[in-house]
Amino acid sequence: MAAKGRVAFDRENCKGCSICVSVCPTKIISLDEGDMNSWGYYPATVKEMDKCIGCANCAVMCPDLVITVERFKEEKKEK
Ligand code: SF4
Ligand code: SF4
Repeated sequence: MAAKGRVAFDRENCKGCSICVSVCPTKIISLDEGDMNSWGYYPATVKEMDKCIGCANCAVMCPDLVITVERFKEEKKEK
């Protein structure tokens, strides 16, 4: 299935609070425990971006405006 959206994280400003992890309906957000930011937090990341539905729950709930969501337009089917 083609991705319906894509998210980007401002890793340096993420405090690893996991709110976005808990509100993502497709459960594709996790904390990147292999790559700490300079504040000492493990920032949120998405590993299976093709499963993003572009709902923007994550961006709406993030208290620090760390997440940007791009929603793809659906292609119209030719008759
Ligand atoms: S836009 Fe929706 S599906 Fe995509 S990562 Fe955020 S909460 Fe999950
Ligand atoms: S809600 Fe925002 S600050 Fe919290 S882990 Fe997710 S991206 Fe980071």
